[in-house]
Amino acid sequence: MIAGMVTGELPGLEQVHVGDASPERLLTVAAPAALDDIRNGIAIARTMFAGHTVWSVNSTAQGGGVAEMLQSLVPYARGAGVDARWVVITGDDKFFHVTKRIHNRLHGASGDGGQLGPDERDHYEDVARINAERLLRLIAPSDIVMLHDPQTAGLIPLLRAAGLPVVWRCHVGVLEPNDLVRQAWDFLRPYVREANVAVFSTQAFVWDGLDPARTAIIAPSIDPFSAKNCELEPSTVSAILDESGLIRDPAAQHPARFQRSDGGDGRIAHRSEVTEETTLAPSTPLVLQVSRWDRLKDPAGVMRGFVDHVVDRCSAHLMLAGPSVAHVTDDPEGLATAEAVQSAWRKLPLPVRERIHLVTLQMHDVEENAIVVNALQRHAHVVVQKSLAEGFGLTVAEAMWKGRPVVASRVGGIPDQIEDGVTGCLVDPLDLVAFGENVAYMFTHPQAARRMGRAAEERVRERFLGSRHLLQYLDLLSGLLRH
Ligand code: UDP
Repeated sequence: MIAGMVTGELPGLEQVHVGDASPERLLTVAAPAALDDIRNGIAIARTMFAGHTVWSVNSTAQGGGVAEMLQSLVPYARGAGVDARWVVITGDDKFFHVTKRIHNRLHGASGDGGQLGPDERDHYEDVARINAERLLRLIAPSDIVMLHDPQTAGLIPLLRAAGLPVVWRCHVGVLEPNDLVRQAWDFLRPYVREANVAVFSTQAFVWDGLDPARTAIIAPSIDPFSAKNCELEPSTVSAILDESGLIRDPAAQHPARFQRSDGGDGRIAHRSEVTEETTLAPSTPLVLQVSRWDRLKDPAGVMRGFVDHVVDRCSAHLMLAGPSVAHVTDDPEGLATAEAVQSAWRKLPLPVRERIHLVTLQMHDVEENAIVVNALQRHAHVVVQKSLAEGFGLTVAEAMWKGRPVVASRVGGIPDQIEDGVTGCLVDPLDLVAFGENVAYMFTHPQAARRMGRAAEERVRERFLGSRHLLQYLDLLSGLLRH
């Protein structure tokens, strides 16, 4: 009984408690052409899902784009009268090493180079079985389940066997699959084929060997009212960044306040951990990348590109910011990546090191973390996302929504967001010269940079707000309920 052995080590499922948010708010920021559809969606959602709980299931409550989206989409669905709930599956170290291996391969990267053989499959299925059994104790036969990403794919056949409609939502992929990608597809396909619908973020991510009639394309989205993206006055931005220890501003007006999703009063109670020679001043031009400490986000490459091709072209500083690694439970490689960046930074000559700031953002309080990211994105002059591979790249949409000029890699879902030279700039992820030139261009051509920032905001308004995402889910799930 291998499953029994695994069970002893596994904590229980986590039900993430989220509040309700009013979907009507989205009408105030959405593009005019979308307003009628949004009103109509809100009007029918309650009746459509009466008697059906919609379960979203993923593998972490915080850290990364999937958690970020569930934190806003689930409350909006609840606010529209849908009984939407969110559960986080459990796993042991071995399980998360296997799923990280799958994640890396789905991005075309070898990761730790380990196997995806029968032993890994057995363990993956054992953990999936335990999670499915626990989940089935919570779920009613009339419910609908939306599973997210490779960690949850093993549950698909087990939940389908219980008669439940199951949507599997894949947030990762590559535009040009290689053999490593195909290995991951081969590992997951037996499970994914069983889903009623497999959803991908962009058409190019759809795998070979799936029934096209049972796949759908839904791009991710951002929530314009979350702590991550809500409007902030410049004075609030300064106060937040000063209180969290990121930018010293003697003129900042304290205390920094923000509104929590439950309507409560938020304050900055934690300082971020900063590795730097000197604290940033408010007037220092800043290039920012915010990401998990993941090799595929290439923080070391951003630093190399900045040192070799930006430092001599302008006076900007670089900040690499990421979450405290202890809190991103489904990412076992975070610590090693963060340490590698710190060690590369220590080896730089002092005058260059002085222009680079490494930041670990606290994760004790997710909304406080989000408001700090929001303030950083609003403060930065240029935002970069030089990923080697990317599912969608929510950080790109977040920065675009704030009117920032973004320089990002032409990978994954990023080209869906940025039209090169119009709503930002795209570069080959390995071309550090082009990266440096484009970043420096934003400083040497401020008018063009502002124009791109404004166009970027409109692009997000038209395509990447949560209202569009919710309407697509409504359409997809109502189709399942009719069958
Ligand atoms: N993020 C955050 N705090 C951090 C680092 C990242 O809230 O310290 C957020 C970031 O703002 C974005 C999400 O995590 O909302 C990352 O999503 P993305 O699609 O960019 O990448 P993923 O992590 O899913 O690969």
